[in-house]
Amino acid sequence: MAYEPVVGLEVHVQLKTVSKMFCGCTTEFGGAPNSHTCPVCLGFPGTLPVLNRRALVEAIRVALAVGCKVSDKVKFHRKNYFYPDLPKDYQISQYDEPLSENGHLKIKTGGGEKTIRIKRVHMEEDAGKLIHEEGGDSSFVDFNRSGMPLLEIVSEPDINSPEEAYQYLTDLKLLLRYLDVSDCDMEKGSLRCDANISIRKKGETGLGTKAEVKNMNSFKAVKSALEFEFERQSKCLETGERIVQETRLWNPDKGITASMRSKEEAHDYRYFPEPDLVPFTLQGDLVDEERKNLPELPEARKGRFIGALGLSGYDAEVLVQDKATADYFEECVKFYNKPKIISNWLMGDVSAYLNSKNLSAGDSKLKPQGLAGLLKEVDSGKISGKMAKDIIIEMLDTGKGAAAIISEKGLSQISDTGELEKFAEETIAENAKTAEDFLKGKDNALMFLVGQVMKKTKGKANPAVVNKILRDKLSKK
Ligand SMILES: [Zn+2]
Repeated sequence: MAYEPVVGLEVHVQLKTVSKMFCGCTTEFGGAPNSHTCPVCLGFPGTLPVLNRRALVEAIRVALAVGCKVSDKVKFHRKNYFYPDLPKDYQISQYDEPLSENGHLKIKTGGGEKTIRIKRVHMEEDAGKLIHEEGGDSSFVDFNRSGMPLLEIVSEPDINSPEEAYQYLTDLKLLLRYLDVSDCDMEKGSLRCDANISIRKKGETGLGTKAEVKNMNSFKAVKSALEFEFERQSKCLETGERIVQETRLWNPDKGITASMRSKEEAHDYRYFPEPDLVPFTLQGDLVDEERKNLPELPEARKGRFIGALGLSGYDAEVLVQDKATADYFEECVKFYNKPKIISNWLMGDVSAYLNSKNLSAGDSKLKPQGLAGLLKEVDSGKISGKMAKDIIIEMLDTGKGAAAIISEKGLSQISDTGELEKFAEETIAENAKTAEDFLKGKDNALMFLVGQVMKKTKGKANPAVVNKILRDKLSKK
């Protein structure tokens, strides 16, 4: 392909505060329409906004985690435009002096690691929501979302494929989850993404005319919309059609983007400083405090899983991709110090079960201590690895302990050598030819004999013990 896409992403994240950005209304999702409102978020004349300190702190945490320089000044602007879901006819946002600038996010691509620069991270408030009557000609407005605290994270146009866009969003979401500043639930609208895309000939460095694509409600939709736009703009260039700067809406049913309106420029919004929120300077060491309080982030955690716990790069990568699973894993290691074995069980049987029930590791009835208990039973020889695979399903279903299930079902493995010796002698007598084959050097023959003893004990024998007994008895022949 002679062209390459040039993409910048604007991600809106709803912060996880208890109350809205500038008033005391709840941020709880849902509720009867307009029940989570007050004169401030309804834009009544004479009301005054007050900045939510928690929202500011969470914004600073995100800015620091993506390596942005945090400004010591906090200043808000009014972004003026009319829309029926915007009661004040302006949105309080940040403009020429955003909270933070010049960060970056490292993403994994097919060709290795790539750094996507982050232009700015700033705070703003959300608008309400229009609900269009189905089949009718009325629209309703719900202001419950009006004034919700948002963070806008704007990337530089460093993304050069739909896959990179998908990866950037995935890695950014993971980071936000680790910071615990948003539930990042796209279905509830707490994570939204708009994409700016233009194309250029490969090897060129200039930027073409961009289209802004909106209305994508999953990372997959972002990828599909960018694939479509890339094709569309490539065709325009080939046929000599002019690409216009515009906002386009993604239509998931048709799999296309369609022109919505010509794109506004910043000056269309007549930004001016918000007179009701006086600019202020961040006092003392708030930013340094938050820097110190940042949790261990995914990359660092992955490095520790490899370095200190001896996991493979692949295992560590899979575990850190889901914070709940990684937390579960670490908790488990506290009770059973064989990280590799725990990771095998988590990535195998446990995650297969949880995925099938659409559960997170944190919601599992099988607690880390329970999994550790089961693995200890295997180590002690009381049950086989194969038995453990059945027992773990019951533990996941019921939350019962391994020991209880083993005794209830009489499942424990026979490790009593006296009992096993009897079975071994019987087996050798019944399979004289195979026994002879083993003595002549056929190692496979022993496997067969072990299998026969397992059969006699209905799978309850400890295979390692059976193996040893058979070898001892045969060597004496
Ligand atoms: Zn309110």
